[in-house]
Amino acid sequence: MKNQIMPELSIVIPCYNEEGNLRALADAILSALNPLVISYEVVITDDASTDNSWAILNELAASYPQFNIQRFKYNCGESAASWAGMKAARGRYIVTLDADLQNDPRDVPKFLEALKYHDCVCGTRVATRGQGDNFIRILSSRIANWVRNRLSDENVSDAGCTYRAFRRECIDNIKFFRGAHRFLPTLIKMEGFTVTEVPVTNNPRFAGKSHYGVWNRLFKSFGDLLAVRWMKERMLRYEIVEKTN
Ligand code: UDP
Ligand code: MG
Repeated sequence: MKNQIMPELSIVIPCYNEEGNLRALADAILSALNPLVISYEVVITDDASTDNSWAILNELAASYPQFNIQRFKYNCGESAASWAGMKAARGRYIVTLDADLQNDPRDVPKFLEALKYHDCVCGTRVATRGQGDNFIRILSSRIANWVRNRLSDENVSDAGCTYRAFRRECIDNIKFFRGAHRFLPTLIKMEGFTVTEVPVTNNPRFAGKSHYGVWNRLFKSFGDLLAVRWMKERMLRYEIVEKTN
């Protein structure tokens, strides 16, 4: 039986039609993580890709025992694929990243260092966006972050960056929903955990194209934003001051 020992770190990746990226992604993960003194697994959820992704993932899982792969019956979206991976992850720490190499696995040590002092660490591309994204993506992200922070009383500089690391217990009680990947720092804070940010590298997509346009991203997430704002305001808050028996 494979993978009996609980790894310390789980790298969790959602994947939809990423055939051109997966081998390079595996190489990048292996060369960044093998030198670290940490046991790890890579959990990849194939969101019912229609290209060759699943066949390539099977090759990778056959070559590398630390690769655990699962496949959805039908396309469920990034949040679902990411969530299913987090649920399958067994590590004490979880790192989430994209399959397209926009996130560089060489940043993982930076996250691990920050995890010594915080429960959750979110990557921010504010300083590096120009390296990997065009003007439209940068501008729409700035506007989205500004609106999001204003309406949900937040100070997350790059909520759209899904390169993050956290202790597994951060997500134990969270209710995840479609689009929740954009609000994870807020949802984790609402559970009482500490959240910080570290600057990360932002590469252009290695192969293939983004699954989102400006409009589907902005409009869909606006409704989610109102829901998160409501939930944040209405969360029960209390402190028990004394108790007998
Ligand atoms: N993704 C997914 N299901 C989908 C759409 C996207 O699992 O229905 C994955 C995709 O393969 C990638 C991540 O979610 O690993 C982020 O997608 P993308 O890179 O297209 O988003 P962007 O970086 O442009 O925001
Ligand atoms: Mg991407």
